[in-house]
Amino acid sequence: MTDQRRSTPRTDTVLSHPDVALAVERLGRSLVKATVADVLDACRRGEVAPDDVTTAVLSALPASPTSLRRVLNATGVVVHTNLGRAPLSAAAVEALAVAAGATDVELDLASGRRGSRGRAALDALAAAVPEAGGVHVVNNGAAALALVACGLAAGREVVIARGEMVEIGDGFRIPELVESVGARLREVGTTNRVRVEDYAEALGPDTAFVLKVHPSNFTVSGFTSSVGIDALAALGVPVVADIGSGLLAPHPRLPDEPDASSALRDGAALVTASGDKLLGGPQCGLLLGDAGLVQELRRHPFARALRVDKLTLAALEATLTGPLPPVVRALGSRPDDLMGRARRIAAALGGPAEAVASDAAVGGGGAPGVGLASAAVALPAGLAGALRAADPPVVGRVEGGRLLLDLIALDAADDDALVAAVRRILPTEPQPGPRGPRAGG
Ligand SMILES: *Cc1c(COP(=O)(O)O)cnc(C)c1O
Repeated sequence: MTDQRRSTPRTDTVLSHPDVALAVERLGRSLVKATVADVLDACRRGEVAPDDVTTAVLSALPASPTSLRRVLNATGVVVHTNLGRAPLSAAAVEALAVAAGATDVELDLASGRRGSRGRAALDALAAAVPEAGGVHVVNNGAAALALVACGLAAGREVVIARGEMVEIGDGFRIPELVESVGARLREVGTTNRVRVEDYAEALGPDTAFVLKVHPSNFTVSGFTSSVGIDALAALGVPVVADIGSGLLAPHPRLPDEPDASSALRDGAALVTASGDKLLGGPQCGLLLGDAGLVQELRRHPFARALRVDKLTLAALEATLTGPLPPVVRALGSRPDDLMGRARRIAAALGGPAEAVASDAAVGGGGAPGVGLASAAVALPAGLAGALRAADPPVVGRVEGGRLLLDLIALDAADDDALVAAVRRILPTEPQPGPRGPRAGG
């Protein structure tokens, strides 16, 4: 014990090892120093040999400067809120890296004067939705709606159908958001039905706008009715449509999902939406519609508190102008192709793995109740925890007593990584069946 204490290297000696010095440059001195201190303590206790200290430090250091981990999304949920919603396209990731340093986000390099902030991203958005006279981008969908309510309805009334008073997730509710910036709600209709006359009767001098909210995470069926944007617009007050998922144009696979172009064509004065759901971009909120209203809101003092950073603007521009983002590609994937991948993966894994058809979902507040035909690799349900602890972590879904690794939301380029991660946690021997090991395994 005393010997080991005496031969424990000094902190500075460990820190000056070339590999450790490189780690200091990459991860920061305090983080590396704390790891060195832990390992030296273990060395003094005799748990690490003095000669192994450097190796132990290097293997204890985090792999990256963020504690966030890359995860393989095998849930079959294309826009998974707990996995960060839309994964960015390679083009958007490249754009993030370019914009990360000093960048001309708000400088006109030709004149050397202040430029229009994020002009290229806004131009790309305007080009994608020609029906919008004006466009603006804020931090998220909730921020877009809060800005509209604050700028147009503080101290006034917002008319909303009771069936559209939506809780969006994590306990946050659209009606409470609208009230939190000083607007008053005027509820009309019932949970299941509302008529255009209900809206008409509620309108008055205090009405700021009618709010149409897409019930993006639930469905109501049976004896129901709601009022479309065109009928509401005919009432002569501004209609604000919170479409949620950020579809800019109709999608053939999601016929019931509202889109910005159609909402504006139907007469909405403003549309609000998220950027990181079906649009497949970075977290942001889109505000589209009447040029005068958008300009008024863009200059509202509250707008500054909701402003997006250069990274968001760069990633949004690349999402809109670059190759199709992963979410959009996933929505267009063919079940046959997914089954082909599932068969190849199952064959590579062997043992209990089996390719099966699967029913995937959009998720993340979009297209509730819509199933997407997909394919998965089925494994014993008991492996779910070990796979989440794998490197990289693999998150599947347990269904019908089996763990399904659904391929719709997984980039095909990650299939090999999936196989490798599963192989590392699969029992090395084929699992014996009820009557002992299978012949010919
Ligand atoms: C998702 C959603 C929101 C919230 O958007 P965030 O980008 O999460 O702030 C608001 N309204 C609807 C209808 C939604 O689907």
